[in-house]
Amino acid sequence: MKILIVEDEPVSRRLLEATLLRWNYDVVTTTDGTEAWEVLQKPEAPSLVISDWMMPDMDGLELCHRIRESEKLGYTYLVMLTTKGRKEDVIKGLEAGADDYLTKPFDHEELRCRVKIGERIINLERKILQLANTDSLTGSLTRRAFMEKIEIEVERAIREDRPLSLVITDLDHFKNVNDRYGHQTGDLVLQKFAEQLCTLSRQYDFVGRYGGEEFAICFPGVDDPSVISIAERMRKQVADLRVVIMADSSCSIQITASFGAATLQREGKETLTSLIARADDALYKAKRKGRNRVCLAND
Ligand code: GH3
Ligand code: MG
Ligand code: MG
Ligand code: MG
Repeated sequence: MKILIVEDEPVSRRLLEATLLRWNYDVVTTTDGTEAWEVLQKPEAPSLVISDWMMPDMDGLELCHRIRESEKLGYTYLVMLTTKGRKEDVIKGLEAGADDYLTKPFDHEELRCRVKIGERIINLERKILQLANTDSLTGSLTRRAFMEKIEIEVERAIREDRPLSLVITDLDHFKNVNDRYGHQTGDLVLQKFAEQLCTLSRQYDFVGRYGGEEFAICFPGVDDPSVISIAERMRKQVADLRVVIMADSSCSIQITASFGAATLQREGKETLTSLIARADDALYKAKRKGRNRVCLAND
């Protein structure tokens, strides 16, 4: 696990760094709150911070306030490590949002135990997030997690003037599968369907379960006509799939899906809502035209 040290005093900083390295943590060091804040904005930022209080520029208390006010970060566990040891100081630090408070000079064993507590809390938070963000049947993102992620991607695409595409796909006549083979087999078909979509997605694409048998795939950096050929490949792959049913392994089910694709319009700053509406329209166009096909949204 990665730990961020925020300490202006060089000797203390090096001592703490050496100690944490000895305990096999990855360590990032900074010398004041401003520098630490910058590190925390980066992707893969440390989740555990050990911060001094008194520092030039931004002090530990303000850093603590900032972290707690920021919604964008995942949970950051902050241990205040300071010479300020009066009861009022401890209360002030904890009120600012510190999770733990230690005074200098620190006892090595005590620090080790307290860092372990932080690690436990962070791992719990990660597990909860993972559960909340993953659809338990298909392993794809939940609708909420997908929406959170695509919102960020759309903002980024607009800011950096880069393309982005969205595909919404829905299994054709899926109700018949449930009616004929039962709900459990329907679930298996859904799993295989999602698996195909994920297999054909690249590293930066992401798949979300948008509704019961409806999935959304976001393609950052992809414009049409590329998105059409990707969706077409997915359509074909799904149609070629043979899902062997559990009750009778000699019997397999063939499925098809319809796909609606839309590319973010760069002029006029299109919103996520309108991008989704256009992909959805395109999906219904594909359904109306006879299913098992890909349609691109009109601008
Ligand atoms: P269309 O081609 O127009 O999309 O027809 P359809 O039958 O796929 O659409 P409809 O909306 O009539 O039915 C969707 C079905 O998907 C009904 C619902 O029971 C089923 N479904 C939704 N979620 C699940 C699930 O988690 N498991 C299973 N087995 N079935 C599901
Ligand atoms: Mg200091
Ligand atoms: Mg359907
Ligand atoms: Mg549907």
